[in-house]
Amino acid sequence: MIVKIWENHPWLIDTDKFKRFNQKYTMFSRTGWDKKVKEMARKSVESVVRNIKYGKRSSLLDYAFMSAGWWVAIKGAPFQMDYGDGGLISWKSDISPIFSIASPFWNEKLSEFRKKFREDAEKNPEKLTRVVKKVAKYFGADLVGVAEFDERWVYSARVLNPRYHIGKEFIEESLELPEVRYCIVLAIKEDYEMQSTADGGVSMGDIAFGYSKMAIVAGSLAEFLRALGFTAIPSGNDLALSIPYAISAGLGEYSRMGLLITKKFGPRVRLAKVFTDTPLKADKPVRFGVYEFCLKCKKCAEKCPAKAIPFEDPSWKRKTISNIEGIYKWHVDVEKCFEYWCKSGNLGCGVCVRVCPYNKPSGRTYFIHAFFREYIVPIVGGKVAKIFDDLLGYGKRKSSSEWWNS
Ligand code: SF4
Ligand code: SF4
Repeated sequence: MIVKIWENHPWLIDTDKFKRFNQKYTMFSRTGWDKKVKEMARKSVESVVRNIKYGKRSSLLDYAFMSAGWWVAIKGAPFQMDYGDGGLISWKSDISPIFSIASPFWNEKLSEFRKKFREDAEKNPEKLTRVVKKVAKYFGADLVGVAEFDERWVYSARVLNPRYHIGKEFIEESLELPEVRYCIVLAIKEDYEMQSTADGGVSMGDIAFGYSKMAIVAGSLAEFLRALGFTAIPSGNDLALSIPYAISAGLGEYSRMGLLITKKFGPRVRLAKVFTDTPLKADKPVRFGVYEFCLKCKKCAEKCPAKAIPFEDPSWKRKTISNIEGIYKWHVDVEKCFEYWCKSGNLGCGVCVRVCPYNKPSGRTYFIHAFFREYIVPIVGGKVAKIFDDLLGYGKRKSSSEWWNS
């Protein structure tokens, strides 16, 4: 049976063919077991050496910056791209400095306080939702939304990827989350100027630090909810597909390039999640014309150096084993994309994000672009809007050295 997933969004699901996605098939996980992908990843080392030696797109300065950007993510949450449940994104914590007071009297009182808090929250979930969003923003989220828990987007199995466990065997394990009701989706913006250097080391440094921020925000928010007595499971790229949850949480729309497009930052965001049983009020999916714009625009498909983004309309046909089955949407050829990341030696790319007309600076000109998108684009259409975008010079690449010297 073919049904809509969200009333106001174009994704369809074929319930006979749909299978929950097994994390084993993400490109990163495939570096642990798929010979073809392993070989791609192996070649990236030679490309990095070439880049530095011949002064190509990324210098030693850029790689040092990239490495430092990953520092918190790798040291604090090394599993956020695969297994989850470790370091900053642990599922449980007993280390809260206040609530670990060891005293039966305190434990009893704390249980009473928490019970009362939960009862009040059940009566007024809107109030607690406002508080949770405020705390998430304080910890560093730029956008926050709440989605109802939907098991369809949870990985059917997760992996313990040998990238971080050299010498150990590749392990796959079926995934069951504790009982939760909501997924809080956290978007962390990337820097407009830095992403203007994609593909190159500066933009990748910004993305790397985005992963570090994901771990800090999701981990801290989960700990806040746990201290109140709720279940809270922080997650980066582990545990579940972030984009459908972000759509459900009203953070944006799906695009031709396979990424979420938000109203405020366009595609320039990274996504983290917290699964919880906290009583909250779920947001609703939003539509602001991205699908119609993408149908005509195709700028990302034209500029993609790997020709990984489809020119054709959405379809059921997945491009690789790394695409989900049974969903009608744009499927990106992630094998071609990943191969380019490795060949270029930049360990990533982001050209599609740079050139997308929805990627605009959020400073002084933000309101002009917002006005244009809201009122002019629906009249002139995506094709004309894209031509204007090109004429105004948006999406052009700046070199990393321009950013270093600015
Ligand atoms: Fe859509 Fe154009 Fe952005 Fe591609 S570049 S995601 S087609 S708006
Ligand atoms: Fe293409 Fe680069 Fe975007 Fe991958 S990241 S889809 S290679 S533009």
